[in-house]
Amino acid sequence: MKKKIAILGSTGSIGKSTLEVISKDKKNFEIVLLTANNNYKKLIQQAKQFKAKNVLIKNHKYYLNVKKSLKKTKVYYGNASLKKIFKKKIDYTMSAIVGIAGLKPTLESIKCSKVVAIANKESIICGWNIISKFANKYKTKILPIDSEHFSIMELTKNISDSEVEEIIITASGGPFLNLPIKKLNKVKPAQAAKHPNWKMGKKISIDSSNLMNKVFEVVEACKIFCFNKKKYSIMIHPQSYVHSIIRFKNGLIKMILYNADMKIPISNTIYGKDNHVSNIKKIDSNLLSKLSFYKVNLKRFPSIRLIDKCLNQGPLTPTIVNASNEELVKLFLSKKIGYLDIVKTINKILIDKDFKKYAKRKPKTINDIEYADKWSRLKTMTLSVL
Ligand code: NDP
Repeated sequence: MKKKIAILGSTGSIGKSTLEVISKDKKNFEIVLLTANNNYKKLIQQAKQFKAKNVLIKNHKYYLNVKKSLKKTKVYYGNASLKKIFKKKIDYTMSAIVGIAGLKPTLESIKCSKVVAIANKESIICGWNIISKFANKYKTKILPIDSEHFSIMELTKNISDSEVEEIIITASGGPFLNLPIKKLNKVKPAQAAKHPNWKMGKKISIDSSNLMNKVFEVVEACKIFCFNKKKYSIMIHPQSYVHSIIRFKNGLIKMILYNADMKIPISNTIYGKDNHVSNIKKIDSNLLSKLSFYKVNLKRFPSIRLIDKCLNQGPLTPTIVNASNEELVKLFLSKKIGYLDIVKTINKILIDKDFKKYAKRKPKTINDIEYADKWSRLKTMTLSVL
């Protein structure tokens, strides 16, 4: 039987990598849903190539374009319910929309998919309470796709918190690892979006350049895994072969090495033990003598101080930081603020007189998350135009 697969955000970097994995083994898969926001041309091309049963274009402006081009595919737009599209549970969903916009579709997919692989870290850090409740209720398996979390999951199978001393999440250090710190304020969007080791979507590339992605990754790990939040730390590892390191209390240290190619975690979550990745560049053994690890310089990467605040200043702090960061990254990409304003403004939000009121509530529903998210976006815009 063919595996039924849905990809939320198929036109993005993770979505395309997922389709690349599937393209090597088309006969075993049926694409039952592809979704996009604006990139309708890519969506049409993907739907034709993979004979998708259904597609969803978020922006209704492009609905007719998609509808006219795809005669054999059912076309939906906006917030169409996945539960209505699928009569029975499908096998696997890749959740790869960028930003908090991915939370609702991820929750929907949990209702109608046996496995949901989540790349969309923003939905984990903001909505994990609800995601895990839904996963229990609908008996859906959740698998992390982020390389750091995929590595932690692989390294800690059947391991309890009492066996673990430290969990190190590595960071490549991005394009500005060696730039003189005083030049950081002049950094332009194109420079920040150009990662030295791989190509990703623009938003995550900016997050990666100033290590905001590491702030989110620690929060994400604290949500997904059972380990004490004080055990996490960050190290710079410019080669990006090691994604996480576990230091055990018995004196052992374990790490897994793999090329920074998202097709590896993706294909492993699709195939499980049967994975035989074929189209992956292998690590050159000669490079193993060149692995290096450094402490993070907090003057270069002040974002790292936000980790402690996200973990200890109220359950909705990660939502507030995420929302502010999403707005600030957009402002930076459209050249309305400087590069260093991103972290500076987030810090201002965290000392705002109203911050505690919004941060302290434990989010029980998506409305609770949206309430804090909206306040943070509004505050961010106010602070940024002043
Ligand atoms: P991209 O920006 O490349 O792609 C984002 C996808 O989401 C696109 O399909 C886009 O559609 C869609 N989208 C954007 N906004 C909306 C919206 N409001 N509603 C519905 N769909 C929307 O992102 P990436 O693939 O790089 O990243 C996706 C997620 O995975 C992020 O959360 C990121 O942090 C995470 N991640 C990414 C990694 C990577 O290597 N890229 C690694 C680990 C995690 P359209 O193209 O039509 O605009």
